[in-house]
Amino acid sequence: MNNFDYDLIVIGAGSGGTRTARIASGYGAKTAVIEGDRAGGTCVLRGCVPKKLLIYGSEFSHQVEDAIGYGWETGSFKSNWKDLISKKNKELDRLHGIYKNLIITSGCDLIPGWGKVLSAHEVLVKNKSSKERKISAKKIMIAVGGKSSFPEFDGNLNMINSDEALDLKELPKSILIYGSGYIAVEFAGIFNGFGVETNLVFRSDFVLRGFDLDIRKKLTEQIENRGIKVFSKTTIEKIEGNDQFLTHLSNGKKILSDKVMGATGRIPNIETLGLNEIGLKTGKQGNIIVNEFNQTNIESIYAIGDVTDRINLTPVAIAEGHAFSDREFGNKNRFISYNNVPSAVFSQPPVSVVGLTLEDAKTLNIKAKEFVSEFNPLKNTITGKQEKTLMKLVVDENDKVLGAHMLGDYSPEIIQGIAVSIKAGAKKSDFDATIGIHPTAAEEFVTMK
Ligand code: NDP
Repeated sequence: MNNFDYDLIVIGAGSGGTRTARIASGYGAKTAVIEGDRAGGTCVLRGCVPKKLLIYGSEFSHQVEDAIGYGWETGSFKSNWKDLISKKNKELDRLHGIYKNLIITSGCDLIPGWGKVLSAHEVLVKNKSSKERKISAKKIMIAVGGKSSFPEFDGNLNMINSDEALDLKELPKSILIYGSGYIAVEFAGIFNGFGVETNLVFRSDFVLRGFDLDIRKKLTEQIENRGIKVFSKTTIEKIEGNDQFLTHLSNGKKILSDKVMGATGRIPNIETLGLNEIGLKTGKQGNIIVNEFNQTNIESIYAIGDVTDRINLTPVAIAEGHAFSDREFGNKNRFISYNNVPSAVFSQPPVSVVGLTLEDAKTLNIKAKEFVSEFNPLKNTITGKQEKTLMKLVVDENDKVLGAHMLGDYSPEIIQGIAVSIKAGAKKSDFDATIGIHPTAAEEFVTMK
């Protein structure tokens, strides 16, 4: 039984899989990483990183508006999409190289190909030329992430997903984006910033279901003020077309656009893993079910990250993989905490949160109240721009801060720091006793009455 090729096989060289493999190998585990695509995964190659680069690129149009408000005279100012995409791709090549090197220099075997789990200890690897190879390990880690998923309706495959939207050869003149989650609002901001006529169609009242209601309302209003056409409480009935697309909406309207993008959620990427055949338990959406050890119902098989569909954020997958390898190969009794995980939506303006909303507290039967600050930032006083920042602290009856929520510029940078204090159990009185940095937006968090 001990004659395995490896101690650990990791399927998927994304952020979570790479961290798992590197740490395991560092403890002396003989480790293989199987990856059919380039090393790097969703976040590095098709998500967080390229998206943030395009967000940076798109924000300049708003910054030019501010600059004009401050007296700058601008000549012609236009973006070069092709140039940006090519520079972005060059950066992704560099990052892919770094990931590949990280895996190899940490002593792991990087095996190109797609993995199929054959049994509790065996994986079949099929490479691009369809050559197959069977390898075995004491433990198998599945870290294959997720992929986008579209609802069923006529012409739904006319929609592009976020992978394709990040790599469009030409900037479209117009786009319709379906959905109002993280991806939809982030891409709506990107296209709107680049001057694309942007339509956002979604089924709920406001964008970002699950976030604080006042922040949702305000962001919906603000993105509309920035020029995005918002169609709330609306679904798509069908999409027709080839070069241009005519989208039929449930409100009877029809919208013609160069592109239609679907951002209606992601599902675990398990299709070719052969999990049913070996009796590995998955949930309704195909999410791999794991216990607190990230272990599946098959003792030697584990899973981390988006394929488990819990908190689908890169830093969570990385933390899960690191803790797994610490436990399994480093003899450390380490687990991660899923409480107070901060996150940001890089909408324009961005939203960032950590901890509970007042609504969450109510659902959990916790007595709490909220402190709110809403203001037009100092920067806007000169330009006359009206785009208010909204901040909230949710505090329980023992004065403990349960959550912090912010809509406005720099919110992801600010909330990351606040998350440390909430994680450390800070009370509202600790916030009050902290001297603010003046003049900033962040100081509002320590002056809320
Ligand atoms: P989300 O789950 O955030 O949003 C899905 C959107 O699609 C919602 O607006 C939802 O509507 C809508 N939707 C779902 N099913 C249907 C349907 N059948 N018909 C119409 N609308 C539908 O998914 P995303 O794809 O935006 O992102 C996936 C995950 O990726 C996120 O949950 C997040 O964890 C992660 N991510 C994180 C980022 C970050 O940290 N900045 C950035 C991008 C992604 P409704 O709200 O009504 O359910």
